[in-house]
Amino acid sequence: MTTGKIDLHVHTTASDGTLSPWEVVRLAASIGLAAVAVTDHDTMAGVPEALEAGKAFQIEVIPGIEISTGYRGADIHVLGYGLDWNAPALTPVLEWVQKDRQRRNEKMMERMRADGVAVSMEELSARIPGASIGRPHLAQVLMQQGRASSVSDAFERYLSPGRPYYQPRTYIPMAEAVEVIRSCKGAAVLAHPLQYGYSSPGLRALVAYAAGVGVSGMEVYYTGYTAAQRRELLCLAAELGLFVTGGSDFHGENKPSIQLGKGHGQLSVPTACLESLKQHLSQ
Ligand code: AMP
Ligand code: ZN
Ligand code: FE
Ligand code: FE
Repeated sequence: MTTGKIDLHVHTTASDGTLSPWEVVRLAASIGLAAVAVTDHDTMAGVPEALEAGKAFQIEVIPGIEISTGYRGADIHVLGYGLDWNAPALTPVLEWVQKDRQRRNEKMMERMRADGVAVSMEELSARIPGASIGRPHLAQVLMQQGRASSVSDAFERYLSPGRPYYQPRTYIPMAEAVEVIRSCKGAAVLAHPLQYGYSSPGLRALVAYAAGVGVSGMEVYYTGYTAAQRRELLCLAAELGLFVTGGSDFHGENKPSIQLGKGHGQLSVPTACLESLKQHLSQ
């Protein structure tokens, strides 16, 4: 297998990354990647610009999305690849998710204002127009106003469950999100399966459930995953008939320790992952 030339999990300023779609694709080309997938949270607004940049910098760009979905009370991320971002089935779902985000952002900002933090939706949406706004943007505000030293510090002190500004979101059920992705001619992939805190039986139950509702791939190559963890995930994927993908989850300065294409430095996503994704999409 050829290695280290693709990254199938990347965020831009269309959600909580700090590089624009154009800049991310330019960076991907400059570090020698052959392909990059743009997978912003709950939006495909960055995809057209990324595709344009792909032509300009001669690198393959795969349209994608990362949807926060509900599964047994947990927030499980499902990646969608190759889907038509103008599909009529997608728009109402993403609008619903963005409305829920908006309602939740307003509640969180109310709490922040009551605590003396100057923040408004008008200012945020003017500064980051069209973006899928969420807690990482509120973390930036807290940093700018000297309340936190980094994005992760802001999460730990104010924005994580149980902390003062946190408000829950309503997640679209996993089965529904997967159905939408598939109806838009996309492939659904379970994102970073080891990030949800499950032990082995819980993980197996999650992956089996995902496969049962139409998820067809699983992210196995991911920032920070060890060789042993990858082996466990590869076995599970093989057992359940899922194809395997991988990516860094690059967010620019919002997650400064993660490098595009390389994660913490050791990540190397085999190009075979893209081949199996494409094979699946062509079926
Ligand atoms: P939201 O979708 O608005 O609830 O924000 C969740 C996003 O915030 C996640 O997808 C991560 O990208 C980011 N995030 C969550 N926890 C942390 C953390 N501790 N440090 C930095 N970023 C985080
Ligand atoms: Zn994110
Ligand atoms: Fe995620
Ligand atoms: Fe992500």
